[in-house]
Amino acid sequence: MATSINTITSAGPPRTEEIAPGVHAFIQPDGGWFVNNSGFLVTRDTVIVIDSAATEARTRGLRAAISEVSDRPVSTLINTHWHTDHTNGNYQFRGATIVAHERTREMMLRYAPTTPDPAGPFPDVNWGALEPAPPFLTYDQGVTVWADDVRCEVRWVGTPAHTTDDSIVWIPEHSVLYTGDLAFNGGAPLVSAGSVAGSLDVLRDLRELRPRTVVPGHGDVCGPEIFDLMIDYLTFVQDLAVSGHRGGRTPLRAARDAGPHPFGHLLDGERLVANLHRAYAEIDGAPRGAEIDLVATRRDMIALNGGRPLRCHA
Ligand SMILES: [Zn+2]
Repeated sequence: MATSINTITSAGPPRTEEIAPGVHAFIQPDGGWFVNNSGFLVTRDTVIVIDSAATEARTRGLRAAISEVSDRPVSTLINTHWHTDHTNGNYQFRGATIVAHERTREMMLRYAPTTPDPAGPFPDVNWGALEPAPPFLTYDQGVTVWADDVRCEVRWVGTPAHTTDDSIVWIPEHSVLYTGDLAFNGGAPLVSAGSVAGSLDVLRDLRELRPRTVVPGHGDVCGPEIFDLMIDYLTFVQDLAVSGHRGGRTPLRAARDAGPHPFGHLLDGERLVANLHRAYAEIDGAPRGAEIDLVATRRDMIALNGGRPLRCHA
């Protein structure tokens, strides 16, 4: 536990931002691997939470942040997708109704919570004591959750994108959009478990919503300009994949040959090669969200990172 707390400090403490009346973003710097954002809405009687966190300690931090704002009980936890940085801490909200897409539940029953793997790319994470707590109220297209009179539309995005089970939470009255990992602010997008083409479709749809405030899955609260950046990055990935594929280069070779590029400043830049793996699969005709060799993508990310484990402040 002490290790986790020190690690949190080293990446900067989390903070809560009220982005509309009663509507909060819980932002965890630096937004890198496994350092996700959450949200919560305070209603007359209860609190509605959007996503938990990756580790026992980080989820305790989220719960503490909620109780600084409200002493009401958490009635509802919405998961934007199954990835363990957004769901490992679900168990700390037992007693709440956990809501997500059907496939989020399916994936969590198979893969969550993450157990420590010292041989994996994140050897130093102190996960804490995690327990399974999958969603038990599921939908196939979407569901509306009401925060008193405020409508919160929880919608599946309709196609594989970041994963195969991404949902957004859209609050039209406040023009607030929680995107989960469809948007990263300051970090490289990651679509290796979903689809490059699907992500581009979804990002264009989200831009059409014209949200005033966007809470990305990682990184600072922002506006809809984030979608243009994500689209530009993924278009760059697709272009790089087309030329690499045509030239017979592996995704790793193509990523290395990319040299300095306009997205070089983004955090966790090694994701480029993982995204290229997905783009190559799509060029070869793989359907969106088809399984690809994620072990190979992790190996190549480590190679692109100079052979080091990936940088992670979880
Ligand atoms: Zn994710």
